[in-house]
Amino acid sequence: MRKFVRSPIGISLLLSLALWLFGSNEIIGHPYWNMVYKVWREPAPKAIVLVNVDDIGNFGSAEAAKVLDRVRRYMPRKVYFDHDVNTGLNAAADSDLARAMASFGPDLALVARAEKLDDFRPEAFKIPPRSVRGDSAIVLSAWSTNAYYYVESAPYSLIFDGHRYPTLSSELAGVKSSWQSIYYPDFSMDPDTVQQVSGRQLLAGTVAPGLLGGRSVVVTSLRQAKTGGYFGHGVTPLVMQDIAGAAALKAHYVIDITFVPLLAVLLAALVLLSRARSSKVKVATYGMIWLLLLSVPIAMRMVGVLVGPDVSIAMLTVFGAIRLWEKRTRRIQHTNASGLPNLIALSASGFEVGRDVVVVVIARYEEMVATLPRELRGECALQIARRLSLGSKASEIYQGDGGHFAWTEEARPLEHQLHHLEGLRALFASPLQVGPHTFDTNIHFGLDRNEGIDRLTRVNSAVASANEALSNGRAIELFEARRLAEAPWELSLHARIEEGLQNGDIWLAFQSQWDFAQGRVIGAEALIRWNHPTRGSIAPDAFILQAERAGRIDTLTYWVLDQAITAALELNAIGPRFQMSINLSAQMVDKPYLVANFAEIVRRRGIDPALLTIEITETSSVSNRPAACDNLSQLRALGFRLSIDDFGTGEASLTYLADLPSDELKLDRRFVSRLLTSDRDRAIITSTIALAHALGQSVVAEGIEDAATFAKLGELGCDCAQGFYLGRPQAFAAYREEYLASFSSRYGDI
Ligand code: C2E
Ligand code: MG
Ligand code: MG
Repeated sequence: MRKFVRSPIGISLLLSLALWLFGSNEIIGHPYWNMVYKVWREPAPKAIVLVNVDDIGNFGSAEAAKVLDRVRRYMPRKVYFDHDVNTGLNAAADSDLARAMASFGPDLALVARAEKLDDFRPEAFKIPPRSVRGDSAIVLSAWSTNAYYYVESAPYSLIFDGHRYPTLSSELAGVKSSWQSIYYPDFSMDPDTVQQVSGRQLLAGTVAPGLLGGRSVVVTSLRQAKTGGYFGHGVTPLVMQDIAGAAALKAHYVIDITFVPLLAVLLAALVLLSRARSSKVKVATYGMIWLLLLSVPIAMRMVGVLVGPDVSIAMLTVFGAIRLWEKRTRRIQHTNASGLPNLIALSASGFEVGRDVVVVVIARYEEMVATLPRELRGECALQIARRLSLGSKASEIYQGDGGHFAWTEEARPLEHQLHHLEGLRALFASPLQVGPHTFDTNIHFGLDRNEGIDRLTRVNSAVASANEALSNGRAIELFEARRLAEAPWELSLHARIEEGLQNGDIWLAFQSQWDFAQGRVIGAEALIRWNHPTRGSIAPDAFILQAERAGRIDTLTYWVLDQAITAALELNAIGPRFQMSINLSAQMVDKPYLVANFAEIVRRRGIDPALLTIEITETSSVSNRPAACDNLSQLRALGFRLSIDDFGTGEASLTYLADLPSDELKLDRRFVSRLLTSDRDRAIITSTIALAHALGQSVVAEGIEDAATFAKLGELGCDCAQGFYLGRPQAFAAYREEYLASFSSRYGDI
């Protein structure tokens, strides 16, 4: 039961029932029916005719008597006199009216309307005294409304002082009662199609005899009539609702079966839907359910059954919203090629506090996977998961990055637990067979048995223990709480980066690049910064590396490019050409979609790529060198400048220089900082500058911290300078301010 209440179906059911309980379901029901009846129109019954006396001018007792006399000549079935005639002004006219009314005998009824809708008290109806009405019968018009003051239903009759007064609708329809005490008008009846006869024509005798003969005639003034909301038509004279009520009663009894049956069917449909496996089938079914939900009440109404769609619409909307939201979090929680949920999903799964968290790390997993063709990689993880689930009896196995698999288990005494894990280890004694490939595997366990710390930390702890087991070659490592502080936080990195980008904890700093020849700032390098709310400021080296390892660098890279472009456009608008440098992670360099994405971003932002310099660092993490070189050449062909960052430190800076058509070379600050103190470093710098110039590259020296180093580099023929001496990296607003100031001092006001 608790599980049901927490499921999307349970939540949406409860919420929609709450909506109904608070009477707010009309928020949905009202516009629904209003829309329906805007489209669905039926003609009014022919047997009812309105005599509209609006064009007679002054309509007093004398005129009323004339009209009634005229009507009687046409021999109608019955006449309903729906007008408050001002009597007492002219005794002769009044008695003439009394005579005219009496001449109908039982075939005339006076209509008494309540002052206000929903008011069914006897005082609300001004029932004329005998002296005025003579022997004429009285019929009532009494309506209940919905929250929008639209007419909804009416009683068949009301009893005042022991006397039963029928309503006009029930009289017009000749249906006095049913087992239900109220009836619902047929709002599909188009009030414009109600047959009308002009009072003036009637008096002139120009009305065709067939029009009134044998019909029910309502004598009324539409102009003075009381009004009420009519679905699909807004506010109309209430007499239209009376006729719509008669139309409904004539056609059939309308049975109100409330919202419950439809809701029950919807519930069943959603349960079936949640059984469907394929997402295409799910979407199609969901669409079908919507279609049915919206059309069934109309179809049912056509055969006289009133079903409320509102609670069901509310439920299906909430259900859809929850599923969408779940799908989004599922996307964050299922990021593996295998489709297995990841460790974030495990920590979000809400496992019980008392359970053990077990993490397995497969030794050399990444190497193993790297030898497999892409399509078999997921399969490999699935096989491991299958074995683990078989041995551990866990219903769900979660997969982390780099060969980590995790689940939770009922806590056993430690002795038993260790024994059990040893047994699991034995399951991996036989090699894995993935397609035609065979692998021997070796697994290590990390176990977290701590209670009282949060789930995310526990999963992290078990991961850390498994890594420790792996690195010291032990089979099982039990997590000790004292290591909590050092637990890695990689597994939630993605979500944290997203969050950091959204709330501005991640931002870009800009550091000037100075041109020796021109003697001014000609550009800047964009450097990423992260002020983490709990971990304080995190150096880019630290989180970029982690993001790379977790395969989460894409988001950051495109965000940096976009932000740097915004800054570059603004700085270029100030005056002279401004060159913006960004750092491209080695992990990204060989990605197949890199060039297309960069091209798309510069096109969208409308910036000349030549204003952007891409700094690349050679590290061993470039896995596909030919692809990397190909990408970089293409970027350069698009117009981007290329720069080899940290030149002299990477393992293959020279190879890069040889293979790549780059434009710039950045001397690493390790050499620069020792320029004045180490002859060897000076020699390296001098020859590197010569080498770069020979290859047509410009040289940027980074990490310049003092005037002497700066001057020396100028002497040695270095082209550009960057370092704390020339300016620290700072946020854009401050940077722009300073850049502007450097201009005003040099060139006067721009
Ligand atoms: P890098 O590209 O070599 O950036 C230069 C680093 O040297 C920056 O460190 C800068 O703050 C620092 N620096 C500048 N002048 C001086 C100086 O005079 N003395 C000293 N001691 N240091 C100086 P930061 O900002 O900590 O960045 C470190 C590295 O992180 C960068 O090295 C770059 O490789 C990487 N990084 C920064 N932003 C991004 C980015 O947006 N994407 C990628 N993929 N990597 C980035
Ligand atoms: Mg750089
Ligand atoms: Mg550098």
